[in-house]
Amino acid sequence: MSFETLGLMPELVRALSDKGYTEPTAIQSQAIPAILNGNDVLGGAQTGTGKTAAFTLPILQRLAEHPNAKAKGPRVLILVPTRELAVQVHTSIREYGKNIRLRTAVMYGGASMNPQMMALGKGLDILVATPGRLIDHLERGTAQLHRVETLILDEADRMLDMGFLPAIKKILNQVPKQRQTLLFSATFDAPIKQLALQFMRSPVEVQVSSQNTVAQTVNHIAYPVDTARKRELLTEILSERYQDQILVFVKTKHLCNRIAEQITKDGIPALAIHGNKSQGQRLKALSDFKAGNVRVLCATDVAARGLDIPLLPLVINFDLPMVAEDYVHRIGRTGRAGANGDAISLVATDEGGLLRAINRLLKQDIVLEPKPGFEPKHAMRMDITPPGRGRSTGHQSPRRKPSQPGHLKSHGMASQKPKHGGQPAGRRDKRG
Ligand code: AMP
Repeated sequence: MSFETLGLMPELVRALSDKGYTEPTAIQSQAIPAILNGNDVLGGAQTGTGKTAAFTLPILQRLAEHPNAKAKGPRVLILVPTRELAVQVHTSIREYGKNIRLRTAVMYGGASMNPQMMALGKGLDILVATPGRLIDHLERGTAQLHRVETLILDEADRMLDMGFLPAIKKILNQVPKQRQTLLFSATFDAPIKQLALQFMRSPVEVQVSSQNTVAQTVNHIAYPVDTARKRELLTEILSERYQDQILVFVKTKHLCNRIAEQITKDGIPALAIHGNKSQGQRLKALSDFKAGNVRVLCATDVAARGLDIPLLPLVINFDLPMVAEDYVHRIGRTGRAGANGDAISLVATDEGGLLRAINRLLKQDIVLEPKPGFEPKHAMRMDITPPGRGRSTGHQSPRRKPSQPGHLKSHGMASQKPKHGGQPAGRRDKRG
């Protein structure tokens, strides 16, 4: 299957081939024809499946075929949960749409209002926004949504987890009833279904099973090791994989900083990305990492969620996540879009319980095999969870269960605090 056979115009196909995409991913071949056809679409897909292009390409095509230079206010509104995702989606739009005349803008909390107001005043083809900041503009009267032809909710489950449901409802009530609505989510439990039922018209459902993608393309490796020697082992692995870009997951912000500093001292330049860093610092660290200026990026779960870091050959878990589902999110950074990847976990003897929970969730046994020279002094305890790890089992949240085995919920902790929309409904912890 080629992009042409999906009905995409040459301007878009050229941009895709410049990016090196030769054929559509599963979600793209399912969603693009339906969106081009004008249908509402309910898409089940996580980051890493190519979902951004799946909804962006047909929208760009429609804008190109029916230009409307006079429009005040956006013709297409894309709502996303975090600023990082907003920037990424906007960048993708600029890349895929580089051969088309387009007016686009991106807005999110934490950035200055004025340039955003100016962009809104000029009228736009596409606006990418986080719900909280868009509500700010609506309340000030600096945004108008009466021209919206297509509304896209990206990572809808995360937006709900972050407490954005009231904001989303307010926004939905301000866009025209006659419109196309596209909703993408990794999970489809009751609140998402309700939203879809209430605000969509007979949506076409498209689905890709991301857990299969993970299982087939990721090689899971677990090294049992004493906590005191984890850092040494990390440096060893980083040195062995000296040609690779590597993402290292660390459970706390403090440890994240410390590890980045220590491995930099070991001669491997590394940056840290976590919730205490300013947005500018986070974006700079990410772009330095993407550009290859630094080879190693240390991240907490929350800071890394939703970041688009393509073709990462290796993810290291410096420690296991306290919630088993976070393991799946972490390794979602590798083995993406069909490429192979390794996920290496450093497992202290008291983290056996966490590994067991991960094995249960993945329905496979990750083999624990010591790295020569780093054999732990004590035997692995599979029955305990380390102290201070909050909920003890690493099982799924009692509030929600994944609707299908292949769709693991994205636990939401706001990397951006929702200003509007009340308390986040999901688990709130102090990490990230
Ligand atoms: P997404 O799920 O939108 O975050 O995309 C995941 C990654 O896959 C991004 O780095 C995209 O640039 C890449 N990608 C999207 N579509 C394709 C494709 N058809 N072929 C190869 N890579 C793709």
